[in-house]
Amino acid sequence: MTTLTTAMPDEKGYFGEYGGQILPPPMIEIMNQINDAYDEVTQTKAFQDELNELYADYVGRPSPIYFARRLTDKIGGARIFLKREDLNHTGAHKINHCLGEALLAKHMGKTKVLAETGAGQHGVALATACALVGIDCEIHMGEVDIVKEHPNVTKMKILGCKLVPVSRGTQTLKDAVDSAFEEYMKDPVNFFYAIGSVVGPHPFPKIVRDFQSIVGKEAREQFMAKEGKLPDTLIACVGGGSNAIGLFTAFLDDESVKMIGVEPAGKGLDTDQHAATMSKGSKGAIHGFECYNLQDDEGNPLPVYSIASGLDYPGVGPQHCHLKDIKRVQYEAIDDKECLDAFMQLSRLEGIIPALESAHAIAYAMKLAKTMSNDETILVNLSGRGDKDADFVADKLSL
Ligand SMILES: *Cc1c(COP(=O)(O)O)cnc(C)c1O
Repeated sequence: MTTLTTAMPDEKGYFGEYGGQILPPPMIEIMNQINDAYDEVTQTKAFQDELNELYADYVGRPSPIYFARRLTDKIGGARIFLKREDLNHTGAHKINHCLGEALLAKHMGKTKVLAETGAGQHGVALATACALVGIDCEIHMGEVDIVKEHPNVTKMKILGCKLVPVSRGTQTLKDAVDSAFEEYMKDPVNFFYAIGSVVGPHPFPKIVRDFQSIVGKEAREQFMAKEGKLPDTLIACVGGGSNAIGLFTAFLDDESVKMIGVEPAGKGLDTDQHAATMSKGSKGAIHGFECYNLQDDEGNPLPVYSIASGLDYPGVGPQHCHLKDIKRVQYEAIDDKECLDAFMQLSRLEGIIPALESAHAIAYAMKLAKTMSNDETILVNLSGRGDKDADFVADKLSL
């Protein structure tokens, strides 16, 4: 049996050609200490019991698997099921790894958890986890994003985190990363930088994947219990790739299960307004690791765009790059228009308003289901709910 799940990454943090630690030697040393502490702490019963209890009683796990009957009937073809990560406390899958990271920081005796946020989703999930675990939290956010994402800014303040406005550069995500990283470098022994997806230097792609893998573990058992067999196809949206790898990991060794990651095609793959890293990117380094990148000729990250702010990142998790190269996972792209259509269809046929990120996965499932037979099944990871997007969509569609 190929053990794709456990054999990766190697001891240098590589998934095939991707990942690693593209950092100065003192930083590599610090990352290796985090890796050692992670391997040790997460093996203890105290840590596992605490995390499992929080997943059950705080997040509300296991999240259900729901058969979307009306959507299936409307489209015809394969039966579509949803893994309901949208029902988690705080409304998305991000709480799974934020709780893990906050708890890890506490068990390692760190004094402060740091992160950047773009649209504020990672910031809110992390501020929530830190409030619960009882550890200081500091989030860096661009001034432009602070104005744009007001409800999330308010939530972070209520949750008690320190919000640091970033006024340099374009005052958006990349500048927030730089600013948060500078703060982290002031005391990396006592601070913990909590990365928001399966990206960044080793060990973060591993750590975040492991905390998210609960999604696929549950889904595999639940689907078996419900249908007596595994799903034929899994579909998840891919920004950095954490919700997708969370679902896929438990199925990687099941050869019969096809897996599809869905990227944002934005205004079209033939324009410069998308964030389809896998479809249009090339190998390079970003934020301390190697992966497919949307980059210019000098290797600088290109500006990226998606209607779903949680998907617009110019890099992607290293394990996804490897899974693409070995053809274990297929990567497809969905544009803004298809995303909006799926958003409305799921809302009106099922009474479930999805996050715009998740609507990319729904849109691809709708396309694919038609080409499959009605004794086949598709399981979509519904990574989050669309409360945050409702006003924007209503405005866009003049509802
Ligand atoms: C942040 C976010 C994503 C994208 O992140 P991944 O790491 O690719 O999962 C997807 N869906 C929702 C709801 C999000 O908040």
